[in-house]
Amino acid sequence: MTGYYSSPFPRRASVGVDVGGVMVGGGAPVVVQSMTNTDTADVDGTVAQVAALHRAGSELVRITVDRDESAAAVPKIRDRLARLGVDVPLVGDFHYIGHKLLADHPACAEALAKYRINPGNVGFRDKKDKQFADIVEMAIRHDKPVRIGVNWGSLDQELLTRLMNENQAKGFPMTAQEVTREAIVQSALLSAHLAEEIGLGRDRIILSAKVSGVQDLIAVYAELARRCDHALHLGLTEAGMGSKGIVASSASMGILLQQGIGDTIRISLTPEPGGDRTREVQVSQELLQTMGFRQFIPIVAACPGCGRTTSTVFQELAQTIQEDIRRNMPVWRTRYPGVEQLKVAVMGCIVNGPGESKHADIGISLPGTGETPSAPVFIDGEKAATLRGPNIAADFEKMVSEYIEN
Ligand code: SF4
Repeated sequence: MTGYYSSPFPRRASVGVDVGGVMVGGGAPVVVQSMTNTDTADVDGTVAQVAALHRAGSELVRITVDRDESAAAVPKIRDRLARLGVDVPLVGDFHYIGHKLLADHPACAEALAKYRINPGNVGFRDKKDKQFADIVEMAIRHDKPVRIGVNWGSLDQELLTRLMNENQAKGFPMTAQEVTREAIVQSALLSAHLAEEIGLGRDRIILSAKVSGVQDLIAVYAELARRCDHALHLGLTEAGMGSKGIVASSASMGILLQQGIGDTIRISLTPEPGGDRTREVQVSQELLQTMGFRQFIPIVAACPGCGRTTSTVFQELAQTIQEDIRRNMPVWRTRYPGVEQLKVAVMGCIVNGPGESKHADIGISLPGTGETPSAPVFIDGEKAATLRGPNIAADFEKMVSEYIEN
């Protein structure tokens, strides 16, 4: 025993759920999913975004179904995607009137691969259980799984108030934050129990309990994982923009995934104006790949650069190689099994360059300040060439392509 642990940790056992041919839980690899931000009634815009998200690597795509027009558009979107050869399962996101939309639009109910229900807003208080039951019965009739998605921002207030009152009657053994966390967990578990009583199989139920605080998310999912064996969808809600959203999502979900918790993830980043929606898919993939859970694309290792590098050539080269790989990956993946395990190194100088390059499948060590203007290239641990002159970057890109193609 060395005292080092091997990663990844064993996964929490969960009941697998088939979502339109994509397995979630039950030992299947952690699934990457995302959500459109188009108006679903806009068929052209939604088809384009679903296709882009799927091309980027989203294995399930959720779309908003909030009114008759969007429900009517769903089968058209499904047909158009099929004609384009995009067979990603579509998940319908329902709030408030989901029971009515599914009943009034059977073609929509059939075209979707899963229904997301929010137990906090499934209907008016006195009709809540009835409307929840209506959606579950619709899922049974159409043989679809559901995700019972509790959300901190739309938590069942009746349940929260009851738990707060019970806590007060007991002399406040729990803080208000702990009571809220418990309400979130109970909302998910009680709803799952109700769905099972109605007749939905355990292999048709996925749970999520999204909150916006990192520590809350870890605590809530750890408790949920302890108290059930349903497949779990992880996501930090309102994660935020840019690096804030990426760091908060990675920190919280990374800890849970390392504990074996989580069967599918969505990293919900607030898009910057004009920003690329597929960024959240890329971040989800990078999180899973960095942690050693899945392999999606070849890794490009690049040194951070320092005072020994006076030009930006190696940063530009690393970025170009990374972008080329992402662009070509769909083709490579079908042609070359295992290509996603490749490692490419782009290093800034001789200090760590040759060593890191030798450990990669193919690597280059570019000249640093004061070094002779030559760049050794290593392939499979052996020095294979020395590139010189103004076209070092282009020559190395060509060598990487040839290495992969060969
Ligand atoms: Fe700096 Fe060279 Fe290390 Fe890159 S490899 S960080 S350029 S010393």
